[in-house]
Amino acid sequence: MAKLQAIRGMNDILPGESLTWQYVETCFRRVVKQFGYQEIRFPIVEQTQLFKRSIGEVTDIVEKEMYSFDDRNGDNLSLRPEGTAGCVRAADQHGLLYNQQQRLWYQGPMFRHERPQKGRYRQFHQFGVEAFGMAGPDIDVEVLQVAAALWQVLGLTQYVQLEINNIGSSADRKQYGAALTAFLAKHEEQLDEDSKRRMHTNPLRVLDSKNPDVQTILRDAPQLADYVSDESKQHFAELKALLKSLNISFSENPRLVRGLDYYNYCVYEWTTDALGAQGTVCGGGRYDGLVEQLGGKPTLAAGFAIGIERLVLMLDGLKLVPEEALQAIDMYILPPSSEDTAASMLLAEELRAAFPALGIICHCGGGKYNSQIKRAFNAGARLAVIPEPAEKGVLTAIRLRMLDEEGKTETVSKDELVTKIRELLSNSGD
Ligand code: ATP
Ligand code: MG
Repeated sequence: MAKLQAIRGMNDILPGESLTWQYVETCFRRVVKQFGYQEIRFPIVEQTQLFKRSIGEVTDIVEKEMYSFDDRNGDNLSLRPEGTAGCVRAADQHGLLYNQQQRLWYQGPMFRHERPQKGRYRQFHQFGVEAFGMAGPDIDVEVLQVAAALWQVLGLTQYVQLEINNIGSSADRKQYGAALTAFLAKHEEQLDEDSKRRMHTNPLRVLDSKNPDVQTILRDAPQLADYVSDESKQHFAELKALLKSLNISFSENPRLVRGLDYYNYCVYEWTTDALGAQGTVCGGGRYDGLVEQLGGKPTLAAGFAIGIERLVLMLDGLKLVPEEALQAIDMYILPPSSEDTAASMLLAEELRAAFPALGIICHCGGGKYNSQIKRAFNAGARLAVIPEPAEKGVLTAIRLRMLDEEGKTETVSKDELVTKIRELLSNSGD
């Protein structure tokens, strides 16, 4: 019978890679904690309506990328394509938003039926933060500071660039959209099918077109910057001044509109040249209208989402994951015979208590020294702990063998064991 395979675009993350994932996750958790953000967990499946109403009917995600299905009750449900909608739904449902300030973060799998390629998958993972109840621009900048702090911790600062744009309020964009539609209508015969359709349903999405001919036409199109309100201009100016004071460098990109409808005022993307085509690692902005759009009280809001796969690709490609984060197994204990199983397992317990942060395997399944030491090497352990056979169930002498090129070996008594191990492990790898 043919073996079943994973679904295209949905990746298995195997033990070697999962260490890098854990490293990124640990760094992210540390950073959000430093900024006082708290975790929120919400379901992977929600009513399809939630995503339609928040992300927008005429967006790539809702038009062609959602995994939607009828469940056994006939309710139309979707796998979440992003986190903001579910976060808002959960926070509002449980009364966290009205008249309050919240700093939240989430992490988890998202699902979009896109064409799989490097950096673009059908199940992918995001970290996100969402801040509610603050007008900004201080909070917008704080949210950007969180991302900047993560790049700093990961060693990515020099590889990412921040692009920002002021997209005004939704009323501003409505006016601008009408002007853009009128302009595009004059060049309709030169547009591709996608742009022709969007020109009427969601004209701003035409600005995102990857088609060079469409981009040429757009050179003479009306500019969104001429339509945004003074209020949003002031917000944007203050935000830029704050970024400068905090030494967060950025450039302005008037073409940046983002693929989701719910944003207003400042939107942004962090991009990198280190990945080739899928170069956006983080996208976000302010979305003051969304909570109300989903039936809640008007609530100020801002946030971003980071694509974890793209971060992992960058960190691996640039070799930025520290050695110790990739060290799964530190010690491997080799029981001399089946009579010494209990004594060896007890020794492992003692060592785990003495070195709580280290990975310690006590060999299972028997076998000769040679086959055991091979497993120790294969496990990537740094040190082999090789007890001499126990006398009356008590271990006395223990041989220590470093599993590096030098292969330093020495035999110690049980009393000196912990001190010796500490010495050997701290000398290696510095
Ligand atoms: P893109 O322009 O790459 O399609 P997007 O604007 O659709 O991105 P967002 O919805 O803003 O992406 O999601 C935030 C981040 O999540 C992106 O910057 C990216 O890093 C990541 N991301 C989005 N879609 C995918 C995907 N299909 N596979 C892997 N990562 C993704
Ligand atoms: Mg996309």
